[in-house]
Amino acid sequence: MKTRNYILLIIVLAAVAFWVYSSTRLVSYEDTAPVLGPITMRVVIGNDSTLKTSPQQAVQQAFEAARKINNAMSAYQEDSEIAQLNRLAKGERLALSKETWLVMQEAMRYHRLSDGAFDVTVGPLIELYRPLRNLAEGEPVVFPTPEIIAAARARVGSQYLKFTEAGRFVEVIQDGIRVDLGAIAKGFAVDLAVEKLLSLGVQNCLVEIGGETRCTGEHPEGRPWRQAIQDPRSPHDPGASLLVLEEGECALATSGDYQQYFEYQGTRYSHIIDPRSGFPVTGPLVGVTVIAPTCLQADAIATSLSVLGEREAAAFIARFEEQGVKAILQLAVQDGEIQLIHLPVE
Ligand code: AMP
Ligand code: MG
Repeated sequence: MKTRNYILLIIVLAAVAFWVYSSTRLVSYEDTAPVLGPITMRVVIGNDSTLKTSPQQAVQQAFEAARKINNAMSAYQEDSEIAQLNRLAKGERLALSKETWLVMQEAMRYHRLSDGAFDVTVGPLIELYRPLRNLAEGEPVVFPTPEIIAAARARVGSQYLKFTEAGRFVEVIQDGIRVDLGAIAKGFAVDLAVEKLLSLGVQNCLVEIGGETRCTGEHPEGRPWRQAIQDPRSPHDPGASLLVLEEGECALATSGDYQQYFEYQGTRYSHIIDPRSGFPVTGPLVGVTVIAPTCLQADAIATSLSVLGEREAAAFIARFEEQGVKAILQLAVQDGEIQLIHLPVE
């Protein structure tokens, strides 16, 4: 064969090899399932040759990892650890699982770092305002009196929880404590699902639970994963995104559920509560998206920023400079427009 023919053959073989390589890489597996009550989880994995099981099996195990977290940490599931904790009387204690202990310790850390803005003992205040978000059309909002708010606040405070590392005990030192891990457990469940997938040999994946996401490796198309911020003006259209981010390996959490609020005397009150005042958070900060190495971190920081507001946000984000944490604040300005503020300012 002439040299020219050899070269041609090599080119053709290389082209075929590249086509086979790229088409197998494109093959990925994706599935969704409800994991946290009605909240859906989505898992996308690449066709990684290192996978130790079938892609279907891997994804099912990721779902299971997240469901386990919900069973342990949902305040609404009667037999969960958190529901048991919420039934303790002053002076009683409960032994926590390794996972719940870890999330509680992280919750205490963010409580300290946020100077009390992030507080998982905010349950009594949540219970106070929740009925106001679920009123029938035309039913008037009766705002709680200062006395009622003060009585609920007396049962709020992370200082009312005492932890003993040996045996992983938590003791309540106040009656009527109500812990709610809604601002941090979803992020943790995402992290755990990603860890599960990594342990099964997955190298490229994206996990999402109710808008909180984390990705590793890259998209099967050989580009960074894309994670979108939902447009608060179109909360019912999952395709309406405010911004699409390509940040590489990272986690992303958004705080400020635009569907969960009530209006009173022209002001919109969020489902997020400022434990320092006892009042629900009000605008103009309508949403906060945080990009961080882990989803627990992104989740906890996003909720903290929602409480701290746009004025204290920059100073708080600066505390996580070493970990490269970033935030995108969504401020409601005139005529329903949303202004985005990126932190830290570059
Ligand atoms: P997220 O969507 O992550 O911001 O979490 C919001 C949920 O966290 C609420 O629905 C409450 O269950 C809970 N929550 C509300 N306010 C606070 C707060 N200040 N600190 C911690 N958790 C809170
Ligand atoms: Mg959160």
